[in-house]
Amino acid sequence: MKIDKNSVARIHYSVAETGGSAIEDSRIGEPISVLVGHRNVIPGLENALIGREVGERFEVTVPPEEGYGPRHANAIQRLPKKVFQKNAVLKPGEVVLIQTREGQRAVVVHKVGMTVVDVDINHPMAGKTLTFDIEVMDVREGSAEEIAHGHAHGDGGHQH
Ligand code: ZN
Repeated sequence: MKIDKNSVARIHYSVAETGGSAIEDSRIGEPISVLVGHRNVIPGLENALIGREVGERFEVTVPPEEGYGPRHANAIQRLPKKVFQKNAVLKPGEVVLIQTREGQRAVVVHKVGMTVVDVDINHPMAGKTLTFDIEVMDVREGSAEEIAHGHAHGDGGHQH
């Protein structure tokens, strides 16, 4: 079957800044499951999945406006060290995860003080044109429960 809205697509992907080396590569682990049409992934990637079938491998180039948006200047925020995970590497230039009301968010460490850390809250891939290498491993219909939740369940998806 072809991928359409409300399909669950299981994909391997790698993503690189266009012309650069991979920033993320799912092949170091398990493929991810995406419920298509529910903004589980950036719009440029979701649109590229529609109409694809199992076994297809393709590249897609996504501009910032269909990706992680533009970079904002003056996006430095000062946060207490306690909001960071204990194992986070707090060094300038490192990407770390913080907890926000909307869930986890990746930020880039800008400057580290005694009790506070200045971070750049732009998404690390904001403002970048990205090239994705996608391989479709599996396609199935989303269940009514998955569609109600807005995400895929099971392998590569939400476990709950
Ligand atoms: Zn769920």
